[in-house]
Formats: sequence, C-alpha cells, structure tokens
Amino acid sequence: MNLLALPAFADNYIWMLHDGARAVVVDPGDAAPVLDALDRLSLQLFGILVTHHHGDHTGGVDRLRRRLQGPVYGPARERIPSPFTPLNEGDVVQVLGLTFAVVDVPGHTAGHIAYVQQGAAPEGLLFCGDTLFSAGCGRLFEGTPAQMHQSLSKLGALAADTRVCCTHEYTLSNLRFAANVEPDNTVLARHRAHCEALRAQGLPTLPSSIGLECMINPFLRCTEPAVVAAAQAQGAAGTSPVAVLAALREWKNRF
Ligand code: ZN
Ligand code: FE
Repeated sequence: MNLLALPAFADNYIWMLHDGARAVVVDPGDAAPVLDALDRLSLQLFGILVTHHHGDHTGGVDRLRRRLQGPVYGPARERIPSPFTPLNEGDVVQVLGLTFAVVDVPGHTAGHIAYVQQGAAPEGLLFCGDTLFSAGCGRLFEGTPAQMHQSLSKLGALAADTRVCCTHEYTLSNLRFAANVEPDNTVLARHRAHCEALRAQGLPTLPSSIGLECMINPFLRCTEPAVVAAAQAQGAAGTSPVAVLAALREWKNRF
C-alpha cells in the first residue's frame, strides 16, 4: 500500500492511499490535486474519508463523486456534503482491504472523528484531521480544553509507531512554539533541525509518529513538569492537565 501526501491550498495535505490500481483519499478540500494524482497514476477512486466539516477538508467531495466508485464516510454529528455514510465512535470502515476504527475526537469541531488503522503492526495509520498536528493541536473552534485533552489523550495512547497523518503542514511554526515551552527538550531541538532541513528541500515533515509526538508535542505533555511550569508562567488556572492545555492553547493563539 502506498501513502501519498497531496499538497493542497497553502498548507493542507490530502492523504491518498493506493495499491497501484485503487485509491482512497482523506479530507479532499480540493478536487484538483486528487484528480491529477488519479490520472497521473491511473488509479480508480474507491472511497473518501472525511474527519470534520470544514471546507478545506470537504470542498472537493462533490466534484470527486463522478469518479468515485465507493462511499463517502464522515462524522455522523457534522454537516458534510451528502450523501455520506455517517460514522460514530467504535464504527469500523473497510477500504482497500484495510480496516480503520472510528474514534471521536471533539475539540477543534464538535463532531470531529479520527480513523485508526486496525490490525497493522508495525506502523498503523492514523488520520487525525485538525485534532493532532506535529508538535501542536487544532484550534478550539467548537470544543473545550477538556474535550481536546481527552481527544489528544486517546490519540497519544496509540502504539508508538503509529504513523500520524495530519492535514496541515504547520510543523515548523508549531516547533517554534514548542521550543519556547520547552527550551531544554533536546529531542525537540533535534527534530526541529531535521524538519527545517526537510522544508528547505520542499519535503513534508509528515507523517509523524505517536512516539515522537509524545516526546515533542507540548499538548501531549501537559503533565511534564517543564510544560506545567511554562503554562503556569502564562497564567494557567491551576496545574491540572486541562488547565495546562487551556493555557498552552491560548498562548499559542497569540504566539
Ligand atoms: Zn479544520
Ligand atoms: Fe483544516
């Protein structure tokens, strides 16, 4: 199975899985990069997975339907282009012979879902939309810090080698923020240099892995003493993980 990050808009990725003949895409905000890839690689489109309702994740769905020979899957509790197969936590999706479990990850939007590959060891796939970014997390447009903390905790508990397929190339700016939160985190500093080199060559910094994110992503590290102290210095309302996450998110919003 091949995994491609198709660049879209200024900093989105549309993830495409294909086996040389059949493809599925995740969060096609724009149809054009998907149609280009289908034509270039002579692929048939067998499914679309959507994580949440925002236009930069759904805007290409209707234009892709004429090429689609399978379902559009999306979150049951959000309005995405109809018709689609509505999914809730615990549902299972089969595409291209792969199995994904649906996990509710509210916070960025109220009904946001993530797709977690099942039965894949090593290096299962996670499609997490705008919930978990490398070294960051999505803005809290429709959810609370407590919801985001619970959502990120679910993702952070996945196998360390899980490949994290986020929908935006925000890694360098997130790492700049993370380095401010944890100036003494050497893993973070090393990874930042690595990502700067990748971006200088025009390469994606993704997919990341859960194990790496647990070491560099401040939003997954809300109980680390250095992160708690940094959040306290920014006026966190207490030392609970939710208070720390809330303070980090506010700080990042104005960073
Ligand atoms: Zn979004
Ligand atoms: Fe987005």
